[in-house]
Amino acid sequence: TTARHGIDWDKAQALMAAERDTFISRMPRSRALSADAANHLLFGVPLHWMNDWSTPFSLYVDQARGARFRDVDGHEYVDFCLGDTGAMFGHSPQPVADAIARQAQRGYTTMLPSADGVWVAQELARRFGMPYWQFALSASDANRFAIRWARAITGRSQVLIFNGCYHGTVDDVFVDLVDGQPQTRDSLLGQVYDITRHTRSIEFNDLAALEAALQDGQVACLLAEPAMTNIGMVLPEPGFWQQAQALCRQYGTLLLIDETHTISSGPGGYTVAHGLQPDLFVVGKPVAGGVPCAVYGFSEDVARRAEAAKRHAPPGHSGIGTTLTANLLAMAAMRANLAEVMTDAAYQHMFGLAERLAAGLREVIARHRLPWCVTQVGARTEFQFTPVPPRNGSEADRILDGELEHIVHLFLLNRGLLITPFHNMILVCPDTRVTDVDRLVQAVGEFAVAVS
Ligand code: PMP
Repeated sequence: TTARHGIDWDKAQALMAAERDTFISRMPRSRALSADAANHLLFGVPLHWMNDWSTPFSLYVDQARGARFRDVDGHEYVDFCLGDTGAMFGHSPQPVADAIARQAQRGYTTMLPSADGVWVAQELARRFGMPYWQFALSASDANRFAIRWARAITGRSQVLIFNGCYHGTVDDVFVDLVDGQPQTRDSLLGQVYDITRHTRSIEFNDLAALEAALQDGQVACLLAEPAMTNIGMVLPEPGFWQQAQALCRQYGTLLLIDETHTISSGPGGYTVAHGLQPDLFVVGKPVAGGVPCAVYGFSEDVARRAEAAKRHAPPGHSGIGTTLTANLLAMAAMRANLAEVMTDAAYQHMFGLAERLAAGLREVIARHRLPWCVTQVGARTEFQFTPVPPRNGSEADRILDGELEHIVHLFLLNRGLLITPFHNMILVCPDTRVTDVDRLVQAVGEFAVAVS
């Protein structure tokens, strides 16, 4: 037998075949909907990457609430994916549901501000320490707009990123290091510009490379997650951010921190939990409780410079903002979410569960002598197919194993447990219970038994 990441690969493949059969036989309604969907949905799904889950056809959701959802065939699940963070505080949290219901009778979008936005900006300033704010409809958009501001403010063209990053559909960041050389990612469809002309890429945790990239004074901003979460998790080494920030300051490069996933670190994100001092700050996905919305913040100095850049620009469209931005519905949802859902108490509950989950997974890994490890960023936990946590995007990329992920994920899904596709990310929410976490740990243990 061949071993792969410490498991018996023949057994793993046989298991996958059996799990696919199980899924198919348990999901007649999902199967029928998938067949109908193929008539008019391109690729048979609303978004083509919905075909990249581990399931033989799409799992159709009937309804979701708190930490749970039910599929159209009546099966119940504990959701540890939580919309890959969009529902990090649970599905339809009651205060948000109430706010949406109230706003439902009071208008959705006017291109005019509502009082909620004033309250929200004040709360964002208190929570994240950035004094000024703007809104967008998605984290992708917020990052795009923040990059635009950074270039406008500094008059510099270059953006710097860490290899293996993901910040949404921001074309500027689809640059990979291949043998140390930046290359436009080849999977990017319909992109005709040479992105490497204005984007530089270096490895995470590499201060020497950072200084080398910054020292010609051409870099407008460093766009980064404080801990990488999209190529598997990669944590910053002790002292990395302190020195990276100092280098950015030294060379006049703005630090644009994307907290969309690392908001799992606490109510003020990784930034507040670890004392970072970004110039620009983005958070999307769960900020309005799952209603599409994102926010981006400016430091005092950068706010003044952004105002000056706008004042000195010719009149016309700035390329920043869209019609539905800061709409009444999203503002009402975000106000309720920030006031009553993303609370210190909610985080305390989530941290406790994540600790229990990480400890449980480590115990399973040790018991079965798997060459795996567990990485955590607050309420976000991941198991990775390596005994030593990766230090950067290249190392993290090498250990990804999409096939093995599919087998684990489908095994769990057939047992009523959903984790995030495309890596092994596990989220807990205020409604997740100790028994849910214990069930997940137990099921990962059963998987280990089945493939060893
Ligand atoms: N930033 C980060 C760190 C993300 O992980 C993602 C999505 N996974 C985004 C931005 C983009 O979010 P959205 O797809 O909601 O625009």
